[in-house]
Amino acid sequence: MSGAVTSFQGRVARFDVLRSPPTDGATRARLGRLTLPHGVVETPQFMPVGTNATVKALSPDDLRDAGASIILANTYHLYLRPGHERIARLGGLHKFMAWDRPILTDSGGFQVVSLGDLRVVDDDGVTFRSHLDGSLHRFTPEHSMAVQEALGADIAVAFDQPVSPSSPRAVVADATARTHRWAERSLAAHERPDQALFGIIQGGLEPDLRAESARLIAGLGFDGICIGGLAGDESPAQREAAVDIAVTALGDDPRPRYLMGLGSPLDLLEAVHHGIDLFDSVLPARIARNGTLWVPGGKLNMRNTRFLDDPAPVQEDCPCLLCRQFSRAYLAHLFRAQELLAYRLATCHNMTFTLDFMARVRTALQAGNFPATLPELRLRAGRMSGREAAEKSA
Ligand SMILES: [Zn+2]
Repeated sequence: MSGAVTSFQGRVARFDVLRSPPTDGATRARLGRLTLPHGVVETPQFMPVGTNATVKALSPDDLRDAGASIILANTYHLYLRPGHERIARLGGLHKFMAWDRPILTDSGGFQVVSLGDLRVVDDDGVTFRSHLDGSLHRFTPEHSMAVQEALGADIAVAFDQPVSPSSPRAVVADATARTHRWAERSLAAHERPDQALFGIIQGGLEPDLRAESARLIAGLGFDGICIGGLAGDESPAQREAAVDIAVTALGDDPRPRYLMGLGSPLDLLEAVHHGIDLFDSVLPARIARNGTLWVPGGKLNMRNTRFLDDPAPVQEDCPCLLCRQFSRAYLAHLFRAQELLAYRLATCHNMTFTLDFMARVRTALQAGNFPATLPELRLRAGRMSGREAAEKSA
C-alpha cells in the first residue's frame, strides 16, 4: 500500500507501518496495518479471546458490533474439545464458529504448562494430563503445528515453553533455550500455505536472556514476533523493562510485535507507548462477568447497591448494546438475579470500551500527537492522579 514507512511481505501476511515513532524518542508507538487472508487489522489492536471457539457470552455479531477485527482461539482447549480433526472435517475454525474475520491460534504451550496436570517437559515436547478428564496427551512443536493447521486460523504461533516471570534464572535459561529449538522445529514443520506463523521471544526478566531471545527469534523466518512470558507476576516496571529490551533488540524489524496476555486499558496503553502492536487477554470479558465495567476514568462495580436505583446508562456516550438501551439499575438487577443477559451486556460493554480505546490510540498516532495525548489517554484508562493514589494508599 502507498504511504507505508516500512512494509513486511510474508507468504500470506503483510504488515505496513503507516506512522513510525518520532525520531526524538518521545515514544516507540507506531501505527500499522496487518493484512491477513480474512481481512485487515489496524494496529495497535486488541484481540478478544475465544477460548472454546467463542468469546464467552458473545455472538459473532456482538463481536463485530464491539469493533473486533481479529480474535484469538486457544489451541489447547480446541484440541481437547471438540478436537482439531473434527473442526477440520466441519470446514475449519472460521466456518465452525461463524466468524469470517481474522483469527490467531496460540500454540497451546501456555495452557499445557498452566492447566495440564502432571506435565513432564523434555527436549522433544510436553506430556500432560487433560484438565477435563485426566487423559494423557503429548504436545511437540510438530504436533502443535499440525493442530493449528487443522484449525486453519490466519495466524499460527510457534510452540514454546513459557515460565513464570519470577522463575529462577536457571529455569528461565533452560526454557528459553528450549523455546529457541522448538521455534526452529515449528518453522520446519509448518506447511499450510494460507496461514502465517509467528515466533515467540522468551527470556523472563533476565535482560541478557530476553535480548538474546529477541535476536534469535528475529533471525528466523517468522511473519510476526510474539513477546511471551510476561503479563504474569511481574510489576509494570519489570514488564516495561523486558519489553524495552526486546523492542530495542528488534530495532527496525518490519514485522508486527505482539505482547501476549495483556488486557487492562492502562497496561495496553503503556505497552503501545513502548512499541507493541498487538495484544490479547481474557481480562475485559472475565471482569465483565464479575460485574466490573470499565468507564472513562475508572470502573463501576455493578454489584454495588447504589446502582439499583440509577437510571443512567453505564457510560453516557458508549455505542454498545448495553448503553444504547439499558440503565445501570437494570444491569445491577440482572447481576443480582444472576440472569444470563447480564453477562452478555456487560461483556459487550467492556469489549466495546477496550476496542474503542485502541481506536483512540490509533487516532492519536494517525494525527501525529500520540505523546501529547498520553496524559489524556492515561486518565481515560483509569490511571489515578497522584493525589487520588496518595489518598487511596493513605
Ligand atoms: Zn457501553
